[in-house]
Amino acid sequence: MQILYQTKIMKELSDICQNISVKTMEEEVSVKYKIKGETKENSKSCLTCDCHGVQGKLKVCCPFCNKPDGLSRIHKVLEGKCQLLASVLDTVNALVVVLDKEGKIIEFNKSCEKATGYCFNEVKGRNIFDLLLVSEEVDSVKVAFNKIKNGYFPNENENYWLTKQGLKRRITWSNTALTDTQGKVQYIIATGKDLTDQRAAEDELQNAIHQYLRIKNSLKESEKLAAIGLMSAGITHEIKNPLTVIQGFAQLIKKNVEGERVLQDYITTILEETNQAIRIINDFLKLARFREPVLTKQSVVKLMGEVRASIEPQALANNITLEYKGADILPECMFDKQQLKQVLINLCQNAIEAMTDGGILTLSSGSHCNDTFIEIKDTGRGIPCESLNKLGLPFFTTKEHGTGLGLNICYAIISAHNGRIEVDSREGQGSSFRVYLPVSA
Ligand code: ADP
Ligand code: MG
Repeated sequence: MQILYQTKIMKELSDICQNISVKTMEEEVSVKYKIKGETKENSKSCLTCDCHGVQGKLKVCCPFCNKPDGLSRIHKVLEGKCQLLASVLDTVNALVVVLDKEGKIIEFNKSCEKATGYCFNEVKGRNIFDLLLVSEEVDSVKVAFNKIKNGYFPNENENYWLTKQGLKRRITWSNTALTDTQGKVQYIIATGKDLTDQRAAEDELQNAIHQYLRIKNSLKESEKLAAIGLMSAGITHEIKNPLTVIQGFAQLIKKNVEGERVLQDYITTILEETNQAIRIINDFLKLARFREPVLTKQSVVKLMGEVRASIEPQALANNITLEYKGADILPECMFDKQQLKQVLINLCQNAIEAMTDGGILTLSSGSHCNDTFIEIKDTGRGIPCESLNKLGLPFFTTKEHGTGLGLNICYAIISAHNGRIEVDSREGQGSSFRVYLPVSA
């Protein structure tokens, strides 16, 4: 207890020193203290101190030793302690900032200086919310700050600090507070760890993993395509020939049974199914005949104009408004015009088929990072989540007469162009297919 009292006494004495220094030399200063509700004068435990201005000099008697220079010795000890504490704050490997109840900066250690580029003198007394916080986070940090002021501490939060150069640093904070003898918060102390470099390293790792997965997936796709190519080359001829014969004879029979309704129905079914089988085989053949693209430097803007002209009549016939939002100027890309046109028409075809009750088909283009993109967007039925990762798999179709090979061909062509297709779709709202092509050097 004695030690505790002495610490308190030292603090009070330090305040007295400051009080005295602002009084005029002639004035007599008398300060009385109560400890545990008692005031005892002229005894060692009593904190009464008289200060007299004597010939322009202050004479202060220490209540402990009753000597005139006692107080200045205590003051020196206090100063030494303050310096020690300041050095400790500066050597800890953490950001330490002390704020008053308004959020004004009272202490700002070396780690804070290093992280922000501000020195203590530049930030001293300035409001942390105006100086260091990003505007989007001011409100949420104020909520945490007010909680501490209302006694809810310690607590933790994470936010950005803006450096002197205007860069953002992500910092995680542990907050606590210093209270007065009544338990009212006087200062808020926040100890922080700068996560910026760690987060950047994590992002880099994530990107590397994504890239790895993309390469792995595209390898898988190429393997699938190679298998399909082999298979189709082997069996297509064998199947297509008898099917064409069946189709021909079915047409002949149909003509010969014109009066007989039941037979007419049967033969119509045979013809429909045979046509569907031949459609599948034709798509297969396109895939089997898939050749390496012949890449030449060309204008995407011009190609889009041609796609638009090709698709316009079909859009009109299906009560679909065709909107064109192509960029006027785009860097030229290396592509095989015939193949890329096939991809875009295929995507438009799917979009039109998704809008059975009409809608809007939007063709747009633009640049993103080092790529040029072309987007085909519809307001059709959209694609359910569980189907999204099946897109492009051979034979995946939800249409009665679909082959499920259109997207597979599109993916193969775009992958051979070193590009990619990204799909964004919401069920009941529509889909967008974005074809990205690298801009040629
Ligand atoms: P197909 O058109 O013969 O069915 P695709 O490979 O072109 O084969 O398409 C596969 C499936 O992907 C379609 O059956 C459909 O379910 C879905 N799909 C593709 N594009 C769209 C789109 N724009 N809107 C909704 N579904 C789509
Ligand atoms: Mg299709």
